[in-house]
Amino acid sequence: MKEGQVDGLIDSLESEQLKFALRINGTVRSFLSGILIEKGFLEIPPVLFSTATDPLNHPVFDTSFEYYGTRYSITKSMIFHKQIAVQYLNKIFTFSPNVRLEAADKALTGRHLSEFTQIDIEQLYATRDDMINLAEELIVGVIEEVKRKNHDELFSLARDIRTPSTPFFQIDYEEAFKLYGKDFESHLSRIMAEPFWIVNIPLEEREFYDREDPEKEGYLLDMDLIYPEGYGEASSGGEREYEIDRILKRVKIKNQEPEQFGWFVDVARKGLAPSAGFGIGIERLVRYLCGFNRIEAVTPFPKIPGRRSI
Ligand code: ASP
Ligand code: MG
Repeated sequence: MKEGQVDGLIDSLESEQLKFALRINGTVRSFLSGILIEKGFLEIPPVLFSTATDPLNHPVFDTSFEYYGTRYSITKSMIFHKQIAVQYLNKIFTFSPNVRLEAADKALTGRHLSEFTQIDIEQLYATRDDMINLAEELIVGVIEEVKRKNHDELFSLARDIRTPSTPFFQIDYEEAFKLYGKDFESHLSRIMAEPFWIVNIPLEEREFYDREDPEKEGYLLDMDLIYPEGYGEASSGGEREYEIDRILKRVKIKNQEPEQFGWFVDVARKGLAPSAGFGIGIERLVRYLCGFNRIEAVTPFPKIPGRRSI
């Protein structure tokens, strides 16, 4: 390549730390798939584009395109595919590449990539508590496994990572807001020593698919997992809306149209059984395990919001 063309574009690739991160990444992926397969989860292949994808709760640049008269969007998350597939497959997971073309200011967080992979998990008839327990087992297990398998890498990175005790601390969204103001999430992330949960998130803060608590109107049966030491959000998930009238009501509250979610709404009209699940960002997890300042250090071809990439 001509000099100048690649300025700044292959910084990650040149870094010695990348090799440590990739070895840890390997441990993370094989541990997570191993334990989930042992527990009877089926791995489904990722879906890279679809006529319906996650609407997200914040604006991103559009990635839709037309192909033989049909409009598709690159996958922002496989939430709808998960909820449908689990009806037949009972317990599933996938390593799902997601493209979310975030605004440039997201580059400041150190934990946003416009292209990333999440391990997306869903289980039929599961509750939020079941998913919290599963996520805790995965996080603790992965930390222990990395300490066992990647002792040398952690040593080279001078990373001393503490194995969290379970159950993780839980705090109600409203309570955290009252105590620490609107930046409660980053504040708590900085002061906590172990991962913790934010639960009962207000309805307007999340997408329509997280289930509203029938006993607490306006609040969701969902959860966010936050890393300590300032690493921020690790995961989000929850129980799902599965009854068509509730789905349509929630879509309307968001000022969205049911047609936007075409096949998902059509299948939901025929009837869905309840499910719950969550997604854990792989690059964020590896960044936390490595103790890196910035997420782009974990991947050879990072897509940093707002920056040119290859
Ligand atoms: N896949 C979802 C997301 O990206 C997470 C979940 O709710 O399972 O937000
Ligand atoms: Mg979500």
